[in-house]
Amino acid sequence: MRVAFQTFGCKANQYDTERMRQELEARGASTVELPEGAQLCVVNTCTVTNQADAQARRFIRRVRREYPHVKVVVAGCSAALRADEYRAMDEVSEVVAGHDPVAVATAVAPPRRLVQLGTRKRLDELDREPVGGEILLRREGASRGWLKIQDGCDRKCAFCATRLARGRSRSREADEVIREAVRLSLTHPELVLTGIHIGHYGLDLPDPLSLSGLLVRLLDEVPDTRFRLGSIEATEIDDLMVELLERSGGRVAPHLHMPMQSGADPVLRRMRRWHTREMYRARALQVAERLAAGGSPTVRGTPVLGFGADIITGFPGETDEDHSATVALVEELPFTYLHVFPFSPREGTVAADLVKEMPVPQRVARERSKELRDIVQAKGEAYRRRRAGSRARVVLEGDGRSALTEDYLRVEVQGPLPEDHRVLLDAELVMMDGELGAVLAKG
Ligand code: SF4
Repeated sequence: MRVAFQTFGCKANQYDTERMRQELEARGASTVELPEGAQLCVVNTCTVTNQADAQARRFIRRVRREYPHVKVVVAGCSAALRADEYRAMDEVSEVVAGHDPVAVATAVAPPRRLVQLGTRKRLDELDREPVGGEILLRREGASRGWLKIQDGCDRKCAFCATRLARGRSRSREADEVIREAVRLSLTHPELVLTGIHIGHYGLDLPDPLSLSGLLVRLLDEVPDTRFRLGSIEATEIDDLMVELLERSGGRVAPHLHMPMQSGADPVLRRMRRWHTREMYRARALQVAERLAAGGSPTVRGTPVLGFGADIITGFPGETDEDHSATVALVEELPFTYLHVFPFSPREGTVAADLVKEMPVPQRVARERSKELRDIVQAKGEAYRRRRAGSRARVVLEGDGRSALTEDYLRVEVQGPLPEDHRVLLDAELVMMDGELGAVLAKG
């Protein structure tokens, strides 16, 4: 069986696709790209925005139009919430409500054990769905590996459908995470700790262990590998984690992606976020100041720190004043990039009801998004210019002409390439034709 895979959405979803691929390959399937004669295409869907759902549907229709002989199996977050809608599509052969790799393999090949396919799962079923199990051996065709440490989320943000599709926070046993990291480190010089809410890692384990505690073990037991934190909430960054960012000599990449969502307290409250604007602001400044004052590298007085956030504009009831508060916070904090989205209501969420009471016109939401993107683009460019002339430790991507720095800058690689892409490399960052590039150190 020749199988092609298409993934939408976050790193957790990409990780899940790799588990599906591994399970199918263990049963004799081989991975191909669509034009290379695939017999089946597994589409791992995302539900974070309406657009993500629509993109998946468009992709499914296009596959069947262009490759009518290819069977389509749909899985993932959107399939977990909308199994019946996907089942009703003529183009879809099977639906797996969720991310279970065995269920996907069962939809394709004869069953090894009984699994439930194709119906929407209740939240309490998702809450009990195991995470982990067999370890992932590699991330196909990529130099950076994803290390999934937990699934699900215990928070109840008003706009979020992901938690409805993924259930409660469930952590993988630390020993299993370490075993997987050791194995992935043979192929991937950098591993990104992924999940849906990694800041709650370990709270549900019989012997609770914090995310920082897990990081300490990973640094100790998986040598020569760089670890990068996936998205982590400001309130869940503890002092030990800041110390690791500061003192691990770059083995914990100086990069934080801290979802902000809004810089206005009334909006944060309606979003059912648990933090205030000031809690977010104080933590971000404190981390940046500690890195600048501590043992970690700086450039021209500012710390080497990739710093990003997610922001939603036009959330129900967001006023001009609320938006100005977000703008002010984005201007104040040392962001190097942002993911900004105009609000789109997700079925089944609290925000889907709120939007009927206090809608913000889409045009306004889009304009506010653009304003924030323009601000952060200027900040990001200023940061890249400051980085020119300083050192970085990069991981090569793709054909090796693109690299990622510790502080999450994607740069073009100049000059000769090494044969082995599976190591971290020293580089000098240089400005060429107005673009930041990297020249690899010799030897
Ligand atoms: S923290 Fe909020 S936005 Fe993030 S997964 Fe949990 S419920 Fe969704």
